[in-house]
Amino acid sequence: MIERQHLLRKIPPVDQLLLRPAIVSCIDRTGREFVVSEIQRLLQGIRDAILSGEVSAGDLSPEKIEMSLLETVERRLRPKLRTLINATGVVLHTNLGRALLSEAAQKSLSAFSGNYTNLEYDIDSGGRSHRDKLLEPLLQEVLGCEAATVVNNNSAAVYLILNSLACGREVIVSRGELVEIGGSFRIPDIMSRSGAILREVGTTNKTRIQDYRDAIGPNTALLLRVHPSNFRMLGFVEKPGLRELVNLSREAGIPLVEDIGSGLLVDLKPYGIQDEPVAQESLAAGADLICFSGDKLLGGPQAGIIAGAGKLVGLIRRNPLMRTYRVEKLIYGALEATLASYRLGRAAEEIPVVRMIAMTAADLKKRAGAFARRLKSALPSDVRVSLAEGSSVVGGGSCPECRLPTTLIALEVAHTGPNAIESRLRLQDPAIIVRLEMDRCLIDLRTVFPEQEPFLISGIQKALAEPA
Ligand SMILES: *Cc1c(COP(=O)(O)O)cnc(C)c1O
Repeated sequence: MIERQHLLRKIPPVDQLLLRPAIVSCIDRTGREFVVSEIQRLLQGIRDAILSGEVSAGDLSPEKIEMSLLETVERRLRPKLRTLINATGVVLHTNLGRALLSEAAQKSLSAFSGNYTNLEYDIDSGGRSHRDKLLEPLLQEVLGCEAATVVNNNSAAVYLILNSLACGREVIVSRGELVEIGGSFRIPDIMSRSGAILREVGTTNKTRIQDYRDAIGPNTALLLRVHPSNFRMLGFVEKPGLRELVNLSREAGIPLVEDIGSGLLVDLKPYGIQDEPVAQESLAAGADLICFSGDKLLGGPQAGIIAGAGKLVGLIRRNPLMRTYRVEKLIYGALEATLASYRLGRAAEEIPVVRMIAMTAADLKKRAGAFARRLKSALPSDVRVSLAEGSSVVGGGSCPECRLPTTLIALEVAHTGPNAIESRLRLQDPAIIVRLEMDRCLIDLRTVFPEQEPFLISGIQKALAEPA
């Protein structure tokens, strides 16, 4: 106990710490109040540690305390949301923020964030206008639809459609399409919260048009078709084509809604993207309403787009809940810039998501080869850098079966397991996120910009130079 009292008295006073040059310069950068409160917190922690017998006299030197203060301050001031290098090759990685925006979309973000805009103002008349009308003409042009509106994400779009058009009434869905996407978006749950009544038809693997027809009754509000984005069924599988559903919907006078998920606007089949509905094709085939995400294959900002018949979109617009899902000016700006690339047929050059998917196996092989050579010469000889044929995936709950051919760079270090390499790379600044596969640490350059390659090399160099 006497020992503890002695240690407590040895803690340097706050005033004395505040005179130290490194701490003075820290105050210049961050403000006195912040630093004082950090010192007090740190000292309190030391007092508690002394009382529980975890501190020795050596830990109490002003130098040691200064060092841990500067570390704490730096850690606390570090933004929680940070950029990182995605070396996984997963183009739409939901945990890493999904789609990267085009240059034009990025420029619009910076222009609109610091300036007033005509978000709800009609410059011609000087009167009020509505944000929801801003992008409608462009969406009509690109999608070939009568009307369109933008909400916060596709989950909100599905919810608003059901709540606006089917509250208290039945919505017919195939049992094979009652999907869960991303853990919290489940069609049956969204349906019940929206007030619509789920009317399941068919079986998990087989649903026929007759099943839909038999389920139609006086209380039927909608036929809903949901794209099973993140899974595929194989084998004994059957479901009606969109055309068949359109015919039934017209015959019965009941609108057909299609949640297409990803918002693909150009055909990417030549690049291996199969089974993803193209938005314009669903509308042209006769779906009354479609909805999709802005930040999946479309390659824009997080948003949900609802497009189709003017009458139905009008009912959704008048839903008082619309306000709770509205988006801000930055989203309209970025979405407009993204759609503008599609209008001019420049998606493959300008939209990063499309560009990454369209990268050829030959180009990736060449890049990987050159990268591996540079990496090898930057690393000690006990690090093995090798190339392996493999594939990238789209991710983000899109196209689970699509395999885009790529060349991977494998990193192996003597006496260090792949998990240890992965975590060292992840703890760099910026963090480097790699793939762990077949007991190897793999880099896929598909999702790395060429201008990031030097940072990737120096990050790997630093990570592997650290003592194990
Ligand atoms: C991704 C997806 C959603 C959810 O979209 P968010 O934009 O992530 O809210 C809904 N339905 C389908 C079919 C999807 O693929």
